[in-house]
Amino acid sequence: MPFENIAKKYFDRTYTEIDFVKKTYEALKQLGFNDDNSIAATCICRDEISQSLRSVIKHMWGEAFNFSSLAGMFFAGKTGLAAAMHHAPIEGGKERYVFYALPHIAIDAEGHIGICRRTGREGASVACGALNAFQKEMASGKVNITMDNEDVEQSLIRMRLLREIPYGHVPDLLELTKITQAAIQADLEITINKVVNIGKSNYAVITGIQINGPDSNYVWPAACYAVVNGVKTELKI
Ligand SMILES: [Zn+2]
Repeated sequence: MPFENIAKKYFDRTYTEIDFVKKTYEALKQLGFNDDNSIAATCICRDEISQSLRSVIKHMWGEAFNFSSLAGMFFAGKTGLAAAMHHAPIEGGKERYVFYALPHIAIDAEGHIGICRRTGREGASVACGALNAFQKEMASGKVNITMDNEDVEQSLIRMRLLREIPYGHVPDLLELTKITQAAIQADLEITINKVVNIGKSNYAVITGIQINGPDSNYVWPAACYAVVNGVKTELKI
């Protein structure tokens, strides 16, 4: 069975990473973005199985600014975003930025959530490991919500995502990944609204969930839109 059909059980539509980035590139080209006048930024997990998406984005857009943290959380904040916002070429008086922000989840050939294989390792592995660890903690009934200075990013994941989870509810890994996608998008948008000057810059927000399939990676698209001269346009992906 093609993987897209297996993934349909959990995600209404999926594209290969290459098709997804191509579709976003083509849609953004209609709105004046291209690889000469724009820079991309990425916010994806540190996991090496997620990096193929950065490679595809580099191939289409050139080297991308990197906002990434564990689980693809947007912890780069105002300082990180402000740094990126001084890097794009200026064409026709405008700068252009394309933000790709996606957490990830593995699905194996049998449709098991969270399960992947890693080259040279026997047995199953888990992705996203950071979200899985947090999910296991919640399921155990005990979550450490202090800032552990020896585990900064994981501490921030717990603190940030607990704001989105009703007290006492334990989401499974799929639900937690969807909650994470919405939190990453919200954090990026809040920061964009504070940092980006829409008089000077056009930008696009491309979100979704990266799916680590048994043969390659796929993407389920969530919000994908551009803001050009202050006007928001949804991308048809
Ligand atoms: Zn991960």
